[in-house]
Amino acid sequence: MAHIYDPTNIFARILRGEIPNKTVLETANTLAFHDIHPQAPVHVLVIPKGPYVTFDHFAAKATVEELVDFHRTAAAICAMLGIASGDGYRVISNAGVNGMQEVPHYHVHILAGRPLGRLVERAVT
Ligand code: 5GP
Repeated sequence: MAHIYDPTNIFARILRGEIPNKTVLETANTLAFHDIHPQAPVHVLVIPKGPYVTFDHFAAKATVEELVDFHRTAAAICAMLGIASGDGYRVISNAGVNGMQEVPHYHVHILAGRPLGRLVERAVT
């Protein structure tokens, strides 16, 4: 999968302040905000501020500072929202066509607050 970043994507526009968001936490390298169409009582998106397309792109190319900041921010959100010590949660990152990634700026979804079902649908044959 090519890692060509499209600076017109919606999360790039959020980072530039062109579109509002409901921020949960912001650091030097990371922004976390509520998903506009929540799939669970807690549905927070965590994005790096750098121009990364997918999980593998971010994991391979981000600086150590970016990597640490991203994951520490996600952990802080779990603590802030009380889900680290609750009934559990799910972290998801979609990539590309098969992953049904809608926004081509790397992000994880943090979902909690209800039973979340199986990880993926069974294959349809
Ligand atoms: P993906 O399918 O790329 O993993 O998920 C993209 C997510 O971004 C979706 O859950 C969608 O609801 C969310 N989203 C799309 N546009 C916006 C927006 O303008 N603001 C916010 N807060 N979330 C958005």
